[in-house]
Amino acid sequence: MPSAEIIAIGTELLLGEIQDTNTRQIARFLQSIGIDLFRTTIVGDNEKRITAVVQESIKRANIVITSGGLGPTVDDPTRLAIADALGVDLEYRPESWQQINQRFKRFGKTPTENNKKQAFIPKGAMVIENQVGTAPAFYCVTEKGLIISLPGVPMELEFLLENNVHEILSDFFREKSVFQSLTIHTSGAGESVIDEIIADLETQSNPTVGIVAYPGQVDIRITAKAIDNTQADKMISEISTILCKRLDGFVFGFNEDTLEKIVSNHLLDKNIRVFTIENGLENQVNNLLQKYNVLLSRPDLLNEFETDILELSLENLYKQINPNILLFSDLQPNFENNLTLKIIYIYLDQLVSKTFLFGGHSNLAADWAAKTTLNFLRVQLIKI
Ligand code: ATP
Repeated sequence: MPSAEIIAIGTELLLGEIQDTNTRQIARFLQSIGIDLFRTTIVGDNEKRITAVVQESIKRANIVITSGGLGPTVDDPTRLAIADALGVDLEYRPESWQQINQRFKRFGKTPTENNKKQAFIPKGAMVIENQVGTAPAFYCVTEKGLIISLPGVPMELEFLLENNVHEILSDFFREKSVFQSLTIHTSGAGESVIDEIIADLETQSNPTVGIVAYPGQVDIRITAKAIDNTQADKMISEISTILCKRLDGFVFGFNEDTLEKIVSNHLLDKNIRVFTIENGLENQVNNLLQKYNVLLSRPDLLNEFETDILELSLENLYKQINPNILLFSDLQPNFENNLTLKIIYIYLDQLVSKTFLFGGHSNLAADWAAKTTLNFLRVQLIKI
């Protein structure tokens, strides 16, 4: 969403001799086409001060609209001030002089040499033909978007806003829009829990926030539409900071990150290997971690594992692999025929045991159990 600023030019506005209705007019127009207005300024007919104000505004805003100061007299310094602010010269535009001549002719008058000044506009500017007055308007491309200079006479300004400016803005910003996305990966909370925490953010239109759920993992996708990548990055970073704060503890990575990669990085950083024992998970934990070289491979130990005295048996096993991690993960139907995942983690003198209940379709249970086990390991590793 582009942002805008307005600069109303005219010493008579500062003196309170006339009321600044143009700012209100432009503000309403911007609101009607959904553009955020962040600041308005009134400045007198002083070239240097106008240059300074324009320089500040074009740094902040994507759209800067000025009103007034486009007439043929020395008190009408807008053209020169804008050229200065953009670091360009004024340039004589014969087509503009021709338009001025035609308009004077329509009013039954002849333009003076002074009027010729109005055909000088900043180099590179596009002329906006003023069909209802004599001062030609123009617009220039800035680093962040556009600066548009309109005449001060309210009736002319209003006409140009509706008939020219609207089209200029939609053409320019439609072409310029870029889309960018960021995916935040979470594990440890189900889709409905995440949905409840971030529901208010899911209703906004730009950036959009959406949820995609997988077994054992919930992704939040942020998509921003902006006029350039810098603005899109800023929009995404603002909302992702809020999301990460609210989802603290569940977020494990972004974009290309996977749970197995994050867990492996922790293990490698701490120089610890993990010995996994899985039952009912289709050996997924082992398969996912394999390529990262973080598994402790001791086939000789598997035979010594006894299921009926589980914790004791695992502790005995652990003594032989010390000081690496032992991770036991077992997915089984419970007495109510629901699938239950039991995880036992042993590291040094600490044994942590936790049970998770699976509520989804049985086809997805092994995937869910593998992700849940990896996330459990991730949470333990953060504490080391
Ligand atoms: P022109 O060549 O037609 O005079 P201009 O761009 O030079 O156009 P100004 O000389 O700044 O415009 O203003 C022309 C008249 O428009 C002013 O005398 C004033 O009556 C009116 N005007 C200018 N600025 C504003 C404003 N911000 N709000 C309301 N009226 C304005």
